[in-house]
Amino acid sequence: MKKVYAREDVCIGCRLCEIACIVEHSISKDIIRAFKQEAKRPARNVVEECGPVSFSVHCRHCDEPPCVQVCISGAIVKDPATEIVKHIPEKCVGCWSCVMACPYGIIKRDTDRGKVIKCDLCPDRDLPACVSACPNEALLYEEK
Ligand code: SF4
Ligand code: SF4
Repeated sequence: MKKVYAREDVCIGCRLCEIACIVEHSISKDIIRAFKQEAKRPARNVVEECGPVSFSVHCRHCDEPPCVQVCISGAIVKDPATEIVKHIPEKCVGCWSCVMACPYGIIKRDTDRGKVIKCDLCPDRDLPACVSACPNEALLYEEK
């Protein structure tokens, strides 16, 4: 399957990928409304920085996902057709087990709603929003 891969050699830590993720998963998909009017939701990736080095961390859509294994309500599943690890908000009870289980620390808490948020690879788009937004091609969407 295609996944998002980061290239730290050209990432400048601008965090446009995080902004694009928030807008893409907003109700309006409008940057002003998403940030000024809608309830703030965390981005589904996170840019890590240490000195001059930065890179964006993404869900790996693992082959044997620990998040799926620990979910007590069946709210995270690996789609056998697409291999995407999906979160089903209606089933999420906000126990945060998956947050602790993910070795990449990439599942976010949405404390307002008492549910988690995770990468869905932007099902409405050909290219994930974070990849499209990167000015430096520091994110690649490809099969390896
Ligand atoms: S959320 Fe974490 S554990 Fe689950 S598939 Fe993504 S990287 Fe793997
Ligand atoms: S938009 Fe690109 S360059 Fe900027 S932080 Fe994200 S990955 Fe790095």
